[in-house]
Amino acid sequence: MNIGILFNCGEAAHICDKSQYQESSFFERILMKLHQMMCRVCREHSSENTKLTEIIEKADLKTMPEDKKENIRKIIQQEISK
Ligand SMILES: [Zn+2]
Repeated sequence: MNIGILFNCGEAAHICDKSQYQESSFFERILMKLHQMMCRVCREHSSENTKLTEIIEKADLKTMPEDKKENIRKIIQQEISK
């Protein structure tokens, strides 16, 4: 998994582009979404992808099993505490 998406605006933008063509993985889209939650610059530049991220939020996150959400939380906490 490319966790760099979380902290690298270039990576996040790249995944953003890939997502438009459904070429990004589920986890890449989650990480991109999380990056945009933390990064105001990318959030403002991703208005074109707002609809997509809304779809991810509604479709994927709500149906994501609790243990998978917990895994993502752990990965993020590990990366932040480095
Ligand atoms: Zn950014």
